[in-house]
Amino acid sequence: MKYNFYPGPSKIYPQVAGYFQEAMELGILERNHRSKAFQELFSTTKSLLKSKLNIPLDYEIVMVSSATECWEIIAQSFINKKSYHLFNGAFGEKWCNYTQHIHAESEAISFGLNENPLLESINDKAELLALTHNETSNGTALSEQFQKQVRTQFPNSLIAYDATSSMAGYEFDWELGDIWYASVQKCFGLPAGMALMMVSSRAIERAKEINEKKHYNSFNFILKNALNNQTHHTPNIANIFLLNRLMQNVENISAVYQNLKIRKKQFFKELSNLGRFEPLVSANEFQSDTVFCLKAETKSIQKLKEVAEKEGFVLGNGYGVWKENTIRIANFPAIPNQYYTELINFLLRFDKMN
Ligand SMILES: *Cc1c(COP(=O)(O)O)cnc(C)c1O
Repeated sequence: MKYNFYPGPSKIYPQVAGYFQEAMELGILERNHRSKAFQELFSTTKSLLKSKLNIPLDYEIVMVSSATECWEIIAQSFINKKSYHLFNGAFGEKWCNYTQHIHAESEAISFGLNENPLLESINDKAELLALTHNETSNGTALSEQFQKQVRTQFPNSLIAYDATSSMAGYEFDWELGDIWYASVQKCFGLPAGMALMMVSSRAIERAKEINEKKHYNSFNFILKNALNNQTHHTPNIANIFLLNRLMQNVENISAVYQNLKIRKKQFFKELSNLGRFEPLVSANEFQSDTVFCLKAETKSIQKLKEVAEKEGFVLGNGYGVWKENTIRIANFPAIPNQYYTELINFLLRFDKMN
């Protein structure tokens, strides 16, 4: 596979091979997670994340295993009785379902692809609003303008964002959310097996009030360890090391995001020349900047996947209800600009031929 555009697990930064080698040589992978060496690694990784991703200094960063685990941690430790889940796709829906196993009263509010969710039915005193910043299954994202509206309308609620396919690509206004999380095998361009949670001081206060401590991954326990630059179990030290070296070497998020937006603009401009494919989401306001979703007849999608594979292009299958009639294309920072030129040329050729 020459050109990997799969939206997760996704293309890994090629530099990661060298970072792995370095980790082996340094012996860090063999040190225990209470050692000074590990504490130093954990502490510098958090500082680098804050400086490269422009995260406010008063947000705490904890490291866990997956975005799925974050769904469970949020349900256990940040919700007393009931949360509201706003979603238009498969990942947001799964988050809602997992939460309902723990809090049966939690409510689902679904919405369409080309619209913002309606907020009218949500209680002013809602404990927590659960939103998927970037819905990987259909290539939609919530605009910053909408995020501001949510913050203004629910000043006392915790706001949690699943940012698994946007964190490290988008430049966020972090203050608009209290909990942001992502696993690293998508937009971060790292191997699978770790997730990050960025948490505001308000969310930390709320977790203290709720005081849930029944689980190995109760947030209060995770945080207590993290404040001491340790973890609640032996962590994925290799991935923390890779993240550390990656954050040393990437540009600041605002430059990274600029480049992604330019690529998106070019991509959709070229796409408008294709007869058979169109964006699943038509309005730019609702389109993701990091996952593109293209729609066509099922026959054309099948044919495209066949030919693409032969030519070395790995495209993402459609997901859930859009499985047969869409493809997904990651616009993640680890994928070089030149890949998009190749992909556009390929799609133009395909469109003429078939
Ligand atoms: C992939 C994905 C998940 C699940 O991530 P895991 O690391 O497999 O737990 C959750 N939410 C979104 C938006 C995703 O794209």
